[in-house]
Amino acid sequence: MRLASIQAAEKKLLLQTYERNPYLFVSGEGVYLRDESGADYLDLLSGIGVSALGYGHPAIEAAIRDQSAKLIHTSNLFYHEGTAPLALRLTELSGLDRVFFCNSGTEAWEAALKLARAHAGLLRSEGKNIGTRFLALEHSFHGRSIGSVATTHKEKYREPFAPVMPDVEFVRFNDVEDLRAKFSSDVCGICIEPVQGEGGIHPVSQEFFAVARELCNSTGALLLADEIQSGLGRTGRWFAYQHYGLLPDITTLAKPIANGIPMGAMLCTERAAAAFTPGMHGTTFGGGPLACAVAHAVLDVMESDNLLTHVDEVGAYFRDRLQVLASRHACIVDVRGLGLMIGIELNSAELAKQISAEMMDRRIILNRTSETVLRFLPPYILERAHVDITISALDELFTNHAEHAGTALEGEHAHG
Ligand SMILES: *Cc1c(COP(=O)(O)O)cnc(C)c1O
Repeated sequence: MRLASIQAAEKKLLLQTYERNPYLFVSGEGVYLRDESGADYLDLLSGIGVSALGYGHPAIEAAIRDQSAKLIHTSNLFYHEGTAPLALRLTELSGLDRVFFCNSGTEAWEAALKLARAHAGLLRSEGKNIGTRFLALEHSFHGRSIGSVATTHKEKYREPFAPVMPDVEFVRFNDVEDLRAKFSSDVCGICIEPVQGEGGIHPVSQEFFAVARELCNSTGALLLADEIQSGLGRTGRWFAYQHYGLLPDITTLAKPIANGIPMGAMLCTERAAAAFTPGMHGTTFGGGPLACAVAHAVLDVMESDNLLTHVDEVGAYFRDRLQVLASRHACIVDVRGLGLMIGIELNSAELAKQISAEMMDRRIILNRTSETVLRFLPPYILERAHVDITISALDELFTNHAEHAGTALEGEHAHG
């Protein structure tokens, strides 16, 4: 009832930018969301990789309560206690030197693009021959603001807003030859999601990432790793690039960093940071006391509960069980991912759509991305028992679909 009236009101009042699913959630506990009728849903998406510690976590609630009672905002005209200690932790975890705080993923990525351009400008002022072009990857997703969307591959996201930021060229995913061919001293930065998220959970290859690093080293261009979805423990490491044993010049964080309180961050090397001087970049809300306090709490819990190891173990278990499922159902053509960033590719977009809707009917939340991929970004606190519930639900649904397809086929033969 409430859902219907909210739907009607939103339809009239909001810009129609989202195709929302018809569910109204009112609370949550652990890995479960609760709807208006009191029914619980196993959440394998965590608000698109945001609610990494799940719902109603006491440490997060305490951080919000305590900090909001003290101070919520002061602006970047003044100091507050939370910024430097959080920046210290992030630099230690990432291997990078400096941090810029902001409020969302696209804003972090926008800062990264601006820094790469400014850094190339700095090099040019020192007499170096370096241009303004970016290389980004096919199937990339870096956000919706005009620079971020320019480095995002899908045409439907860019074309209505043309001209977007110029000087971006797309390289075929994991195609080292194409990367080498398109790279030159014109390039100021190479943009990579170590594991493509919206693009369908595709980890970049070791060779491709290493060649990108080497090409950047050869000219002074910057390697930009977008870890907005893959960063801060999602893949079982603090940063997905740590699986590859290399360091980018810039990385971006957002989704899980403050467990749902809006926050983003761009981290970079000392050398790159020198390109920004006071006044060149900024944000009103970025790195405020509340967001910093909550991000501290997230890192505290991840460390004290050993969540990286947990993500690694439960993620491996989840992918093993999905592999077994794939061996039973021919419609599953691939199982991919790292840690708890997992995708299974089906042989049909229509089937992927049906399965995700039917899982919702069974009160299990996942989503479909890149047409044919079922994506899982569960909270880091997911347990094996939740994986088992998911696998048996999927097994039943795939079996039903195969039987129906079988009957349909037999029916056709009978007529033929
Ligand atoms: C979600 C996402 C973004 C954009 O983040 P917003 O907070 O929605 O602006 C950028 N890059 C990647 C890899 C993402 O997953």
